[in-house]
Amino acid sequence: MATKTTPDIEALAVSAGMRMTDQRRVIARVLSDSQDHPDVEEVYKRAVAEDEAISIATVYRTVRLFEEAGILTRHDFGDGRARYEPAPEDHHDHLIDIQSGKVIEFTNDEIERLQTEVAERLGYKLVDHRLELYAVPLDSDDK
Ligand SMILES: [Zn+2]
Repeated sequence: MATKTTPDIEALAVSAGMRMTDQRRVIARVLSDSQDHPDVEEVYKRAVAEDEAISIATVYRTVRLFEEAGILTRHDFGDGRARYEPAPEDHHDHLIDIQSGKVIEFTNDEIERLQTEVAERLGYKLVDHRLELYAVPLDSDDK
């Protein structure tokens, strides 16, 4: 599950016509290496560990530019913080552990098929969807 191909954010930004400064390159690398849907604060923490001159304002601005260029996808997993991941090549959905905040990616062919069917029954052709499951670990119910 953790073995997803990491998109090269920097290369995508360059081909999107973005001017890449050294600081933007560091932020791009941090995002490429992230498997965990970090928020801006977390991206900032990781970026500043590589280049202490990077400001949180620069991280905000750069992340927004990447998002506008369609390179990053923004999520809101219910805790009011915007989280980011490289725009995935293959669609996946998310399960959010509301106790630990852990985010698990999954795909399910049956759910995909059902969603298409529901849209069609309502007279629509499905073009996109987002599905978030909010959950607690099963063993936490036993207590
Ligand atoms: Zn994801």
